[in-house]
Amino acid sequence: MAYKAEYIWLDGTEPTARLRSKTKILEDGATDLPIWGFDGSSTNQAPGSNSDCVLKPVFACPDPIRGGDDKLVMCEVLLTDMTPHPTNTRALLTPIAEKFAAQEPWFGIEQEYTFFKDGRPHGFPPGGFPAPQAFYYCGIGADEVFGRDIVEEHLDACLQAGLGISGINAEVMPGQWEFQVGPLSPLEVADHLWMARWLLYRIAEDYGVSATLDPKPVKGDWNGAGAHTNFSTKSMRTSYEDIIKACEALGKRASEHVENYGADIENRLTGQHETAPWHEFSYGVSNRGASVRIPWQVEKDGKGYIEDRRPNANMDPYVVARLITETVCSALGS
Ligand code: ADP
Ligand code: MN
Ligand code: MN
Ligand code: MN
Repeated sequence: MAYKAEYIWLDGTEPTARLRSKTKILEDGATDLPIWGFDGSSTNQAPGSNSDCVLKPVFACPDPIRGGDDKLVMCEVLLTDMTPHPTNTRALLTPIAEKFAAQEPWFGIEQEYTFFKDGRPHGFPPGGFPAPQAFYYCGIGADEVFGRDIVEEHLDACLQAGLGISGINAEVMPGQWEFQVGPLSPLEVADHLWMARWLLYRIAEDYGVSATLDPKPVKGDWNGAGAHTNFSTKSMRTSYEDIIKACEALGKRASEHVENYGADIENRLTGQHETAPWHEFSYGVSNRGASVRIPWQVEKDGKGYIEDRRPNANMDPYVVARLITETVCSALGS
C-alpha cells in the first residue's frame, strides 16, 4: 500500500525558527525518500517572485502517530541550485561534526517546555496565580501536576519512533516539563531533539494544548525554561584535566555562545532561579548557579561530562551543538 511521509523542516521565522511539515504520499515499497519543495514565500524563506525552496531528507524514523509504514522525515532546506538555504543551520554543523568526529563528542540535552491552555500556563487558575513554586518539580497529584497524559503519550511516541530519549520529569512551575535526549553524537542529538519537539507539538494539539519553548513564559518569581546541554568527548570521559580544560575553553568564548543560545536569553539568565547572569561566566562542581556545572559524581570519579546550563529552551540544537563542539574540541585537540 502507498504510505505517508511527513516532511518536516525549520522555517525562516525571526528570531526563532518554527517547525513546518506537510505530507507526501510514496508508492508501496518505495524506500528512497525523494527531494521535495515548498513555497518559501509563506515561511519567510523566499520572496514571492522566486518562491521555490527545496526539501532534502536527512533523517527519517517511523511515524508513531500514523503508524504502519508511515514515516517522519527531517529535511534540510536548500536553494534551487542545491546549496544550503541561509536558514539551514544543520548544514553548518555537518562539517564541524565531521572535523572533530575522532574526539567522539556526545551531547545529552534537557529540553524544558511549558504547556499553555486557554491562553495561560496549564494549571494556572483563570485570572490568577497558583500556589508559589515548591512542590511542582517531580511532583505527583492533581493539585501539582498538569498535562501528564500528554507527556506520557509523547514519551511513548518518541520510543516508538526510535529517538534517543532518556527520561522525563515535571518541572518547577505548574505546566512545565522536561524531556532529555542523548547522549548522542552532535548531528544525531539535534535531529532527534527537533523530531521530539515536533512530536510534542503534534500530540499536544490533539489535547487542545500548545507546548511552548518560551524561555521565560511567566515573568516574576517563576522559573524560566532552559535546555541544559550536557557534553563530553572521549578524553573528558577519562580525564578530569580535560573536564577543566573544556570549562576554560567555554569561558574564553562565552559571549559568542550566549548570543547564539536562544532569543531572549537575558530575561532567563538573570542570576536567579538556578541561573548565572548572562554577562558573567563561571563554572563549578554541583553548582546550579554557575554557567557550567560539573556534576559531583564527575569530580568524584575524576572523569565524565559537563553541563552547560545557559542554552534557552528555544535554542536551535544545530547551533548549540556546533558551537560547543567547535569551542571545546579545538581546545582539547591542540
Ligand atoms: P539534571 O540533574 O541536570 O536534571 P538530567 O538527568 O536531566 O540532569 O540530564 C542529564 C543528561 O546528561 C542526560 O540527557 C544524559 O543523557 C546526559 N549525559 C550523561 N552522561 C553524559 C556524557 N558522558 N556526555 C554527554 N551527556 C551525558
Ligand atoms: Mn534535568
Ligand atoms: Mn530541568
Ligand atoms: Mn540540568
